[in-house]
Amino acid sequence: KLNERKFILAGNWKMNKTNTEAAEFVSKLVGQIKTEDKFEVIVCPPFTALEKVRDITSSSNIKVGAQNAYYEDKGAYTGEISVNMLRDIGVEYVILGHSERRHIFQESDELINKKLKKVISSGLTPILCVGEQLEEREKGLTFNVVERQIKEALYGLTEEEAKTIIIAYEPVWAIGTGKVATPNQAQEVHKFIRDLLKDIFNEEFAKKTTILYGGSIKPNNYLGLFGKPDIDGGLVGGASLTEDFVELANIMK
Ligand code: PGA
Repeated sequence: KLNERKFILAGNWKMNKTNTEAAEFVSKLVGQIKTEDKFEVIVCPPFTALEKVRDITSSSNIKVGAQNAYYEDKGAYTGEISVNMLRDIGVEYVILGHSERRHIFQESDELINKKLKKVISSGLTPILCVGEQLEEREKGLTFNVVERQIKEALYGLTEEEAKTIIIAYEPVWAIGTGKVATPNQAQEVHKFIRDLLKDIFNEEFAKKTTILYGGSIKPNNYLGLFGKPDIDGGLVGGASLTEDFVELANIMK
């Protein structure tokens, strides 16, 4: 695409693949996926497989992201993983505010804001997920929800600090349901997000920010979506666990 933004395919494995399965799968990806300057591929395995996956992908351009992180550096936070721990093993990206974190684990906008600040100040790149639930869409609240999630996540961040952020619009009703948003439904929200970034920061910032779509992307439905002017790639769940991911990467570039 002819714009200043990076085009990205990111795979969110969620709670899938043991270390052994991850190693086997990602070894195949390394041989089959070719990236380019403006096209980046990121895999986000569970914490237990991050180091192994980083080792295997280090000979390639495939980047590695975590699915979450905590905002404190260390201490009495049983069960949590710090951003420093991730950086130490070569992780470069962190997904934050995924709808499963928001809804199953009750993460608030305030918590996501703290995590976002920590990830950015540590030099890692956040992939901030936002998106409305079905009832919210039906009540006509899509834009309100997305606006609140973005404004609260970015609260207190300067333009300079926020400039590495990647945003993923993932309508909750499309995640793991097989019900993908139509290209027009997605484009409308992506455009809204880009306009919002222009209001919060400025036009230059908005123009440079990569905004991914996520929710039931498959090789047979990606085309219409990625052809839209404000859709800069995808955050893929189910299809990132199989050969579909290779197919998506190879058609997207
Ligand atoms: P899905 O998940 O592709 O399986 O719908 C997307 C996501 O949750 O990031």
